Amino acid sequence: MVSRVIPVDPFDLVIFGGTGDLAQRKIVPALFRRYCAGQWPNATRIIGAARAGLTTDAFRDMVSDSLRKHAPKRSKDPEAVKGFLQRVEYVALDALSEDGWAQLAKTLRTERVRAFYFSVGPRLFGPLAERIRAHDLANAQTRIVVEKPFGHDLESARALNATLAAHFDEGQIYRIDHYLGKETVQNLMAVRFGNMLFEPLWNSQYVDHIQITVAETVGIDGREEYYERAGAMRDMMQNHLMQLLCLIAMEPPAKFDPDAVRDEKLKVIRALDPVEPHHIVRGQFAGGANGRGYREVAGNPRSTTESYVALRAHVSNWRWAGTPFYLRTGKELVARSSVINVMFKDAPHSIFGEEAGRHANALSIRLQPNEGITLTVTIKEPGQGGMRLVDVPLDMSFAEALGPESQDPPDAYERLVMDVIRGNQTLFMRGDEVEAAWAWTDPIIAGWQARGDVPKPYENGSTGPGDAELLMKRDHRRWQGINP
Ligand code: NAD
Repeated sequence: MVSRVIPVDPFDLVIFGGTGDLAQRKIVPALFRRYCAGQWPNATRIIGAARAGLTTDAFRDMVSDSLRKHAPKRSKDPEAVKGFLQRVEYVALDALSEDGWAQLAKTLRTERVRAFYFSVGPRLFGPLAERIRAHDLANAQTRIVVEKPFGHDLESARALNATLAAHFDEGQIYRIDHYLGKETVQNLMAVRFGNMLFEPLWNSQYVDHIQITVAETVGIDGREEYYERAGAMRDMMQNHLMQLLCLIAMEPPAKFDPDAVRDEKLKVIRALDPVEPHHIVRGQFAGGANGRGYREVAGNPRSTTESYVALRAHVSNWRWAGTPFYLRTGKELVARSSVINVMFKDAPHSIFGEEAGRHANALSIRLQPNEGITLTVTIKEPGQGGMRLVDVPLDMSFAEALGPESQDPPDAYERLVMDVIRGNQTLFMRGDEVEAAWAWTDPIIAGWQARGDVPKPYENGSTGPGDAELLMKRDHRRWQGINP
């Protein structure tokens, strides 16, 4: 089965921070892959805009290098690279002064979608928005794209929303959470709302609990300053894990339309109970055979920033009353793995007797690596020897049914950037969602600060602090393994 490419109309995309890490590693390679797929027409232009005094030729060299590194397969085609680079331009510009803005105005064309990607630190969001307006660069089809972190707490998120709202309508603001662009995350919605099979069971009557794990093997190298101020709660839990929780827990929206979906997600966040202090575990990697400890890397021997957090959350509504959601995320862990496990209840009565053991179904949605969905079902172990039961995975990676292409799903940024151009906000966070997520997160962090909480150490390359195991054990449950 070949994926359908629905071309978009020509557009101008300005990437503020075009020379930065995110632009060169993610955004530009994603645009290149979409160009190779024939998704956007030749009249389109990608305009890098950053402080460095580069010429367009020098910027194209930089982009060419990045494509070799970050889109190695497709960049082997010299014609494709040449065609793409012809559509790339550069304007040297300062977000905090008038330098370069007149040049940018001259570069843009009218009557087409004009997207501004703010791939810069959040302190520049306001100045950029102001200057776009002051130089009259916004047209009827203007969109702005902003990256995380969206605020540091509720107050700063509100201030950021207010700054952007002073210059743009909510319908023009695209707040990226790249987890939402992952193929499997969208597949989760298709599985839930496109089948009769799962939705009747998707509630506290049949689901015992849900686990969401986002484990990373990387540490904080190169991001020490930012991370010291953020920690795992702000960096991962408040946004990525919260978004996954919303998609798992939300009610079916009436339509797959941006506001219908986001209204339902917002209801989930608002239904979250405050987290009890004994339902949360903070950890900090302490080094060991597999690398240096957090405090050493951060250059702060007394740092109490958490690089790991596990918690038990409750969504207080009819569907989920009594079903715990266990969320955990951490750095320097044993494997890179993002998985949602929906753990169903045991069958109410075993007709096979005690010796058959206890069995329950589980639906595992793997986001990375190896995106795919697995349903664990109980069957009879083949052969003689009575009724022995065994749990086997029903693999829904779809490779056989959908062909090899399904094994190479587009990068999240490919979908998200094209959605910006198409004007589809379904997979982007609305301002009120972000604020609600901070309203839930802030008291947790304030509690740590008030109690002088110190994160529990864990060894690099482990599954996290032992207390996270206890969090589950107390409830007679256990975490699923963190497997690559
Ligand atoms: P970076 O430091 O590599 O790049 C910053 C870019 O901003 C550079 O192009 C620089 O020239 C430009 N810039 C800085 N000051 C400027 C000014 N006054 N005027 C014009 N341009 C200016 O940063 P990055 O890693 O690319 O991250 C950009 C943003 O995206 C940050 O907010 C970051 O938190 C966020 N983000 C990054 C990643 C990532 O993987 N790098 C992932 C998610 C979110």
